[in-house]
Amino acid sequence: MRVVVVGSGVVGAACAYAATRMGADVLLADAGLPGQATAAGAGIVCPWTSRPADDPVWYDFACASARYYPGLIDDLTQAGETDVGYRQVGALLLAQSRPQQEQVHRQLEDRRAAAPEAGDVAALSGAQARDLFPPLRADWPAVWVSGACRVDGRRLAAALTRAAAAKGAVITTAPARLVCDGGRATGVTLKGQLVEADAVVAAAGAWTTQFLEPAGVTVPVAPQRGQIVHLSVAPAGTSRWPVVLPVMGGHYLLAFEESRVVAGATRETGSGFDYRVTAAGLAEVLGQALAVAPGLATARHLETRVGFRPVSPDGRPLLGPVPGVAGLVVATGLGATGLTMGPLAGTVAARVALGEPPGTDLAPFDPLRAAPPDLEP
Ligand SMILES: Cc1cc2nc3c(=O)[nH]c(=O)nc-3n(C[C@H](O)[C@H](O)[C@H](O)COP(=O)(O)OP(=O)(O)OC[C@H]3O[C@@H](n4cnc5c(N)ncnc54)[C@H](O)[C@@H]3O)c2cc1C
Repeated sequence: MRVVVVGSGVVGAACAYAATRMGADVLLADAGLPGQATAAGAGIVCPWTSRPADDPVWYDFACASARYYPGLIDDLTQAGETDVGYRQVGALLLAQSRPQQEQVHRQLEDRRAAAPEAGDVAALSGAQARDLFPPLRADWPAVWVSGACRVDGRRLAAALTRAAAAKGAVITTAPARLVCDGGRATGVTLKGQLVEADAVVAAAGAWTTQFLEPAGVTVPVAPQRGQIVHLSVAPAGTSRWPVVLPVMGGHYLLAFEESRVVAGATRETGSGFDYRVTAAGLAEVLGQALAVAPGLATARHLETRVGFRPVSPDGRPLLGPVPGVAGLVVATGLGATGLTMGPLAGTVAARVALGEPPGTDLAPFDPLRAAPPDLEP
């Protein structure tokens, strides 16, 4: 069976990897567009504290996605991929007062009862939090969640792509155009050549709507720009610093190897594909970071990344077969948590493309659905 996967962000790379392992003949194409979300994403995997957790459908899939990671990383390691950029480092939820800390602590204890992979939950003083992440201010108490992980989207997508290629997938850099015939997706054109396929997986992130135009369907995904700042705190050893999630506000901090601290991020709904670092974006991200971690004031600016989150109107994934177009599968709409959900979403898309049971109820993720009014952002 021949499967063409369009888009090699985390979703498409995971899909290509899963489909090759299931025995398909896979071609993975990416246009190399500026603003790939996977290359800019922070990489926090901690669904138990995410804001959309009030939607049980979203929350169940996000928790399943976090549970899916360790097995995937083991598989990749056994395939010889050791540079996957994934590590369990825990998270600190920073509260601004003791009552707020107690409230968050209770909520996380409740969530952990149903999701043991969240790990240990404990109340910490501001000083204890700062011992774990030294640039932090010391007067905000925190709640510790040990199961939180971080992942480097670039390294993970590269490892998935390499592992797929090692199993025979063909990797191409070129824009793909969908080809449909009589209510069926029959392949794509790449560099002017028709590539026929039994199934086409549209994992083109925020660009998926445009890619699907030839099918005459509209999948409601839109770009939301995120600007995210990378700093160096050399010579500090940062590889085990936890993720920092202030309870108030959507900004955060995390760290990677080589003294790299990442401060994120803007959420610019309605940005279109405007691939720019802006003065307001930098001011917002750095202002929020320094308010929480004044010790970063002397850090060196390394780079600012820009990515377009593929957001759906109701926050749920757009995932599954496209009604009325045989052989066409959509896997996008993962918004601000696509590095968490991407590996599982890509795997589900591969199963659908190959006619296997998806392993999850796809009805709420129908890519052509209208947003329920009570869930519209
Ligand atoms: C600043 C920022 C911070 C984030 N932080 C987190 C986080 O902490 N945790 C988390 O879980 N998620 C996070 N995310 C979200 C996550 O990064 C995204 O949801 C996820 O990476 C989306 O992956 P994707 O594969 O769907 O899309 P993308 O990574 O955008 O990939 C889509 C690919 O499709 C290609 N493409 C498009 N059209 C075509 C075509 N016609 N032909 C061929 N190729 C095409 C593009 O070139 C692109 O490479 C963050 C995102 C941003 C921007």
